[in-house]
Amino acid sequence: MNKKTIRDVDVSGKRALVRVDFNVPLQEGTVADDTRIQAALPTIEYLLDRNAAVILMSHLGRPKGQIVPELRMDPVAARLSELLGRPVKKLDDCVGPEIEAAVQAMQPGEVVLLENTRFHPQEKANDPAFAAQLAALADVYVNDAFGAAHRAHASTEGVARAIRERGGAAVAGLLMERELTFLGRAVENPEHPFVAILGGAKISDKISFVEELLERCDRLLVGGGMANTFFKAMGFGVGDSLVEEDAVPTAQALLKSSGSRLILPVDVVIADAFDNDARARVVAPNEVSSGWRILDIGPKTVTTFESALGGAKTVLWNGPLGVFEMPNFAEGTRAVARLLAGMEATTIIGGGESAAAVRQAGLADRMTHVPTGGGASLEFLEGKTLPAVAALDEG
Ligand code: ADP
Ligand code: MG
Repeated sequence: MNKKTIRDVDVSGKRALVRVDFNVPLQEGTVADDTRIQAALPTIEYLLDRNAAVILMSHLGRPKGQIVPELRMDPVAARLSELLGRPVKKLDDCVGPEIEAAVQAMQPGEVVLLENTRFHPQEKANDPAFAAQLAALADVYVNDAFGAAHRAHASTEGVARAIRERGGAAVAGLLMERELTFLGRAVENPEHPFVAILGGAKISDKISFVEELLERCDRLLVGGGMANTFFKAMGFGVGDSLVEEDAVPTAQALLKSSGSRLILPVDVVIADAFDNDARARVVAPNEVSSGWRILDIGPKTVTTFESALGGAKTVLWNGPLGVFEMPNFAEGTRAVARLLAGMEATTIIGGGESAAAVRQAGLADRMTHVPTGGGASLEFLEGKTLPAVAALDEG
């Protein structure tokens, strides 16, 4: 990684402003899932161990530039305090004279959490004056919010430039570093054979990704709603399956150029309604009659995918292979998750729903890497620049 990290700067006795991704699910005023808070602990503890004063900031939900009481950060501060075993003072804004005074008064080893950055419309607008106000709070800016790194907002991108203008450093935190290192290896230098698995709802979201992957991988296994458009391109009637007519010509071209490297399902689970309790059958992909829709890959496809994965050194998976949210159509996704969990290869799961499916199957810790940010991981894997990363100091 060609960016500076907190290990490259002296933080002792300094005030560190840390952008974390504490965009956690809340339920009845408490944190329902603290995975993202846990993921930020190594960076926070690293800074505290070195006598920094730690100022944390994050967005939470979509308050649309206004104060929304239910989206205040108080429950997050409470949970973080429990996890850290020390007090975490929650402030009621993220900029302004009172915040500046509170932050000036901090002692090394203290932790404060600023209020939801998205209470200000300037956050999403990446307003330079607002970013400068954030930067004025600290000596060092640390970005550990991988999940928000694909957004050029004031607390992720503008602040990094603003602190540099004031002579301060803008560096990556430990979580950010870990995410970029694992994903970077998969993008730049995957060990071959490199097999990619793609699923999810729509092909149009991911066409550039498919093209990218076909240039780099040895085999590309396609399932999920995405496969339907390929079936259509092959001239199959796909009944009432989700298909993107507009993308059929592209799918045709991809089928032609990829030859035997592109592997499609050989059987599919179809249902007579988009419903977990619908009647279901396993058929060949060219046997889907009208009134029926493809909701999962079939058992023969799992076997086909298993042989295609044989001997792989790197596996990259994005997109569920069926409508895994419905238990009766989750088996294909779960079976492939189990295959990956049993492999010696480097296994990387990109994308929000894919990561959720792997977690739901209880197999996340059997994978080499499951990124904390779905959207950010996908953009990175597609080869796009993450603006918040680009803004950090060069290493
Ligand atoms: P990710 O977030 O991992 O990148 P996507 O957002 O592209 O994945 O797609 C996830 C969605 O795709 C899931 O909600 C799943 O229900 C849906 N999906 C998968 N297979 C099908 C299918 N055959 N028909 C309709 N939707 C599907
Ligand atoms: Mg998604």
